[in-house]
Amino acid sequence: MKVLKFGGTSVGSAVRIKDVAALVCDGEQKIIVLSAMSGTTNSLVEISDYFYKGNTSGALERINVLEQLYNKVVEELYTTDVYKSEAKVLIKSIFEYLRSFSKSIFTLFEEKSILAQGELLSTKMFHTYLLEIEKNSILLPALDYMRIDKNGEPDTAFIAEKLTEQLANQPDTTYYITQGYICRNFYGEIDNLQRGGSDYTASLVGAAIKAEEIQIWTDIDGMHNNDPRFVAGTQPVPLLNFDEAAELAYFGAKILHPTCILPAKLNNIPVRLLNTLDPAAQGTLISVQSQKDKIQAVAAKDGITAIKIKSGRMLLAHGFLRKVFEIFESYQTSIDMITTSEVGVSVTIDNNKKLDEIVNNLKKLGTVTVDTNMVIICVVGDLPSDNVGFQTKIVNAFKDIPLRMISYGGSDFNVSLLIKAEDKKRALVSLSETLFNN
Ligand code: ADP
Ligand code: ASP
Ligand code: MG
Repeated sequence: MKVLKFGGTSVGSAVRIKDVAALVCDGEQKIIVLSAMSGTTNSLVEISDYFYKGNTSGALERINVLEQLYNKVVEELYTTDVYKSEAKVLIKSIFEYLRSFSKSIFTLFEEKSILAQGELLSTKMFHTYLLEIEKNSILLPALDYMRIDKNGEPDTAFIAEKLTEQLANQPDTTYYITQGYICRNFYGEIDNLQRGGSDYTASLVGAAIKAEEIQIWTDIDGMHNNDPRFVAGTQPVPLLNFDEAAELAYFGAKILHPTCILPAKLNNIPVRLLNTLDPAAQGTLISVQSQKDKIQAVAAKDGITAIKIKSGRMLLAHGFLRKVFEIFESYQTSIDMITTSEVGVSVTIDNNKKLDEIVNNLKKLGTVTVDTNMVIICVVGDLPSDNVGFQTKIVNAFKDIPLRMISYGGSDFNVSLLIKAEDKKRALVSLSETLFNN
């Protein structure tokens, strides 16, 4: 069985929802994972923000605007009164639920319940539409099988057990529809797999049922060789291996959630990136297969902080790096990049929550310098160290751009470079010219 995930734009209007239905309804049994309609989760974040700030009228105003939009979609999507009124009842109840938060205290718990409503709406509306057009379909409630543990990691054994059970209970269904993004946490509360997490749902579902293929349907024809939001003329990459795709996703290629490749890789399930707006386009196939000696793509990860620790004590000493790492570990902050010299070490982090505490502790070990607002540029491909010349090409692209750190050798798939945020666009454009446009 295949798992097909459709992102926000793919279900972003009545017309798009109908297109998705036409695309999936080919008679083949499948699991369909849906995101919220585009813009919905952002609106829900905004609504929560108003509630947090105690601005109930601000929240209610945003809720009303969003409700109007959904009512319009309902008018356009369904043709029969029965299904139209069923969808209207659903929408009314979800929006009343959103309004009910104006009467309660507002914490992270309430926010997560609000954020879950987008996927609950889209899947229920889609299912109602499939019923209207007489397709054999059911809803698989993600809140019944998708669970994360105390560390926020997916509980894969639980997911597999519950999902298999749900599928076995409904063996004659053709189209199983489920929510991306949402889950329950260790305490049974509603939670989520972080922004963009519907891709992760698709790969966790794929892994749980040992799917034949996972398809991520979005608004672009596959993984491009550079970020199309910053560089003109980027091209789709037809083949990527799991490690390359994982590096790109982790280092900022927004088309994929940062951690969604791992479950597919561990189970050797191919992942295909496809375009709902151009279903015939080849897209990108992510599998074990590698393209030998090829630089495949470039991505950029924002919001990076670099921390340098310089110490005379590092000279000829052992155990220094352990002490540095222990400080980051004790504040549960993970390190992305690292470079060392005999007298110092530089690391980067993408989470500044505990920065002050970390810096205070690092000062016990040496002189600490912090650079915020940095960007990691990541060049990905088959880059083994016996493959000469690729480093020169990469570094050449930075001939006019100040480089704070360079890291290569951690894997054969990635060269990472740290620059200031203000130089990001220039660096990406220059890399496209040097690596792909000749
Ligand atoms: P969805 O809502 O379907 O999950 P996303 O917006 O999360 O879609 O991801 C698709 C977007 O990712 C594209 O529209 C594109 O702007 C952006 N993107 C960033 N980097 C890349 C890349 N290297 N290749 C393709 N798309 C990328
Ligand atoms: N709707 C969620 C978000 O906007 C999840 C997703 O689209 O993947 O982040
Ligand atoms: Mg996405």
